[in-house]
Amino acid sequence: MCVANQKGGVAKTTTSVNLGAALALRGHRVLLVDVDPQSNATTGVGLDHRAVERSTYDLLVGEASLGEVTRPTGIKGLDCAPASLDLAGAEIELAGAMARERKLGEALEGVGERYDLILLDCPPSLGLLTINALAAAQDLIVPVQCEYYALEGLGQLLGTAERVRRSLNADLRISGFLLTMYDARTKLSTQVADEVRSHFGDAVFGTVIPRSVRVSEAPSFGEPVVTLDPSARGSIAYRLLAAEVEERYGLEVHVPPLPPSEPEVMSPAAPAVAVPGRGGRGYGTVAPEPAGLDEAWPRGESWTVSR
Ligand code: ADP
Ligand code: MG
Repeated sequence: MCVANQKGGVAKTTTSVNLGAALALRGHRVLLVDVDPQSNATTGVGLDHRAVERSTYDLLVGEASLGEVTRPTGIKGLDCAPASLDLAGAEIELAGAMARERKLGEALEGVGERYDLILLDCPPSLGLLTINALAAAQDLIVPVQCEYYALEGLGQLLGTAERVRRSLNADLRISGFLLTMYDARTKLSTQVADEVRSHFGDAVFGTVIPRSVRVSEAPSFGEPVVTLDPSARGSIAYRLLAAEVEERYGLEVHVPPLPPSEPEVMSPAAPAVAVPGRGGRGYGTVAPEPAGLDEAWPRGESWTVSR
């Protein structure tokens, strides 16, 4: 699964790390592959990206095998292929290489037997690294931050994914759009959630990730919030997401089902009422629909939603 959105700060890394950890806690064998030179997923699971000898950079340039790069983490069942800063140079170094979009896919070949699930944490761009991840993945998860301009850029992302599907990876499907940093106290969050659901329908995960201070603190401990503070609202939400992913993909369940969720995590309150702009300017709290989104997502017609 490739976790991508070219916008920064929408919770790609938080989602990769915590969904990965939550699935590992539920007994699955998970590999987290850090495809972002910023290496936040690497540090997020407690590995020091400055100290790693082999990283996903070596994978991409063909100088190491996945086995040489992969490290265990403090969480049983969760391994990580760490990134390092030199990954930033890979885009340039690979520029003239043959089949440069397939390097990651080639490096991951055959690894499916060792893991139940592989998560690819992408950088905030639609460059060669993200394209490598899209070409290697079976499924795409798109975190969408519940903020103004949430839909902005999704057209380009879907367009890029579509091109990858046509030319490089016919198996690519949409796993789902994930609403992140949802704040039930704000009208904006509810309206953005409604807007995203009205666009992408059942391609949106039922689980919504709430904004939670514990989630934002966890990276400084080098530990996913799901293990650092299992009772935090964000942790519960990521565990529910893991259960949803498990169900969608028919992963064999090793643990008893979760107790019913906290209602505030799962159900985004009362339906939002769109507030038209006042005084002849503005659009209320929801941004105007960006151009090109409907062409990129003709109400799900061209895409297979994996479930
Ligand atoms: P990306 O990988 O898309 O750039 P990150 O996962 O690094 O985004 O998240 C961006 C910032 O938002 C980080 O500081 C992270 O800790 C914070 N964050 C992510 N999810 C939440 C959440 N549910 N509640 C509060 N803060 C969050
Ligand atoms: Mg990130």
